[in-house]
Amino acid sequence: MTVDYHVHLEEGPYSFRWLERTSRALQHFQPLSDGFHHREWIQASHNLLSERLEKGPYSALWLDLYLQKAKERNLKEVGIVDHLYRFRETRDYFEKHMDISESDLGKKQHQWLKQVMTENMGNFVDFIESQKTKWADHGIKLRLGMEADFFPGCHDQLKELLSTHQWDYVIGSVHFVDGWGFDNPETKGRFEQYDLQDLYGRFFQIVEEAIRSGMFDFVAHLDNLKVFNYRPDEETLKPYYQKIARALVETNTATEVNAGLFYRYPIKEMCPSTSFLKVLAEAGVKFTTSSDSHFPDDIGCYVEENTERLRSLGVFDVQTF
Ligand SMILES: [Zn+2]
Ligand SMILES: [Zn+2]
Repeated sequence: MTVDYHVHLEEGPYSFRWLERTSRALQHFQPLSDGFHHREWIQASHNLLSERLEKGPYSALWLDLYLQKAKERNLKEVGIVDHLYRFRETRDYFEKHMDISESDLGKKQHQWLKQVMTENMGNFVDFIESQKTKWADHGIKLRLGMEADFFPGCHDQLKELLSTHQWDYVIGSVHFVDGWGFDNPETKGRFEQYDLQDLYGRFFQIVEEAIRSGMFDFVAHLDNLKVFNYRPDEETLKPYYQKIARALVETNTATEVNAGLFYRYPIKEMCPSTSFLKVLAEAGVKFTTSSDSHFPDDIGCYVEENTERLRSLGVFDVQTF
């Protein structure tokens, strides 16, 4: 069975690049021209984008494209999550744990947060719930999730934020090390300032705390710190890989094979890496599969390949939630 449990509907920051990517997604489903970029083509593209922007990410107009692609890719279950930082209700949480000081990093991150935090959680929940029957009629189980950023010591506040709605599952993610959002291309220069051994040590310490918090059905992309290709010799990371594997097994927490970094980021590698995946599989860790798509044409990307990879390592049961 092929499943994709990590799918996003929209993510800022909003830019002409975002607009271009959105237009590409729309035209993947509704090709507009014979390849010629004439005036009628740009007018028609503009009309499609206008409609998409007006209706927003929580509209059948947009989600139906995910459904269409999910059927093409033969998915049986799909979990839609959006990032916790998308929702205005979570402003205090992120302002508390992110560096939004007057430093260069703080200013950049504060601006980023204001640009991406645009939605209301209730609208997201109500919309996904309202679409479940339609998906079921097409033979696909649609699930509602949340991708929650984990910060050391965040437990009580995060629990409270998540308790406001009923989730089919919650993903725990580490996108920040001590206030720094390391996957933001605008701040990647900071990798140069760190001793990579120390940085990876600290990162895996936070990932382990997230796992042991017991708050998550699965913990996502376990080695996404490699996103921009900064990684020490993987041999030196093996003890961390083993520690993470132990924590997952002991707490009965699953993880995923996530294709996002493979097709969207400089590292061009799945999460976890081949050697990390081997350690996890040998320890008996449970897995689900995910595309981490942010656009409908990417849903289900590489899920079949990764399901096969898991099988070749003896993992035959893909987790669902
Ligand atoms: Zn993530
Ligand atoms: Zn994600």
